[in-house]
Amino acid sequence: MTNYNFSAGPGVLPTPVLTKIKNEFIKNEFTHMSIIEISHRSTQFEEIINSAEERLRDLMNISDDYGVAFIQGGGSTQFEMLPLNFANNKNRIAVLDSGNFASKAAQAAVTIGKQATILDSSKVDHYHHLPMLSTDFNADEYDYLHLTTNNTIEGATYHQSILPKTVGRLTADMSSNILAEPYDVNDFDAIFAGAQKNLGPAGVTVAIVKKDWLKEQNIENVGSMLRYQNYLDKHSMYNTPPVFSIYALNLVLEWVQEQGGVDSMYAQNIEKSSKLYDYLDNSTFYHALVDESARSLTNVVFTTADLERDQAIAKDATKEGLFNLSGHRSVGGFRASLYNAQPIEAVDALITFLKKAENNYNDKH
Ligand code: PLP
Repeated sequence: MTNYNFSAGPGVLPTPVLTKIKNEFIKNEFTHMSIIEISHRSTQFEEIINSAEERLRDLMNISDDYGVAFIQGGGSTQFEMLPLNFANNKNRIAVLDSGNFASKAAQAAVTIGKQATILDSSKVDHYHHLPMLSTDFNADEYDYLHLTTNNTIEGATYHQSILPKTVGRLTADMSSNILAEPYDVNDFDAIFAGAQKNLGPAGVTVAIVKKDWLKEQNIENVGSMLRYQNYLDKHSMYNTPPVFSIYALNLVLEWVQEQGGVDSMYAQNIEKSSKLYDYLDNSTFYHALVDESARSLTNVVFTTADLERDQAIAKDATKEGLFNLSGHRSVGGFRASLYNAQPIEAVDALITFLKKAENNYNDKH
């Protein structure tokens, strides 16, 4: 029986990458020792971190106008770092509350002493549609607009084609769909993404920040570990970086390049997610919850409309090697995460299982 991991994060990683890590773990052919034993100041690690940055720049078409930093502390630290570094003029950010993580970003900004204005929220319908900018939005009142491109928990996504158009500064949390679908980096002033979904293991977060915008900031009261500029000046080695996570990230980026880059990942992710959504839409037993135009390619959220039954079915799924299908504890239901490394066979196996559960239910009722 093949096992499939539908976890929302840390999520599935490409098997060839895991095999390479295993084979190189004790003794890497370049370092002659384990990657977790080498100095971050060694030329070997320098090559790895340079390569990771180059690959990311290549995959996302990141111009020299942007700096790339590898930071510890996860997306949650970015919720604070972003306003600390960039909300210094108006001391106020605007947020489109499209899900749990957008809401957390707004709260974090308030915690560090900034104001956060929720311009629009889809909380009333459990975040099943996307909040949008109204025509009277005045960007001048805010340092920037924060949005979460993909809502990992609720499964609604601002795809590139439906990004809010703003003349002001735009920042994005791309933690759960970076490299899964194309975005034009030039439309953003700062982007961050925790690695543990589409990029590698937990422990490193990628930040892509516009250098000119950074230069405009007065951040004398911001601690050194929380300043993007320090990461850019020291090439993400202001202190000891997460060596293993960056090494694994580099291997995942190499794998994405070998697959044909973001366009190829996108095509595969459309194929995988459409197959699942089509099945769900044609079933009377399961319901996909998010508005069609905003459906996530990476986190497919659905339910039978009976949370206890959902839980029992997700538990049964584990007996068939289909793991981590339960929705987030705050919403219940099902969530099938289909990150880049998820093979189409996982979707086929899931659909076969879901059909069986549906038939079982129909037989009994
Ligand atoms: N943003 C998004 C979109 C996420 O999905 C997550 C975690 O799942 C976070 C932020 C928080 O990331 P972390 O747990 O790395 O702090």
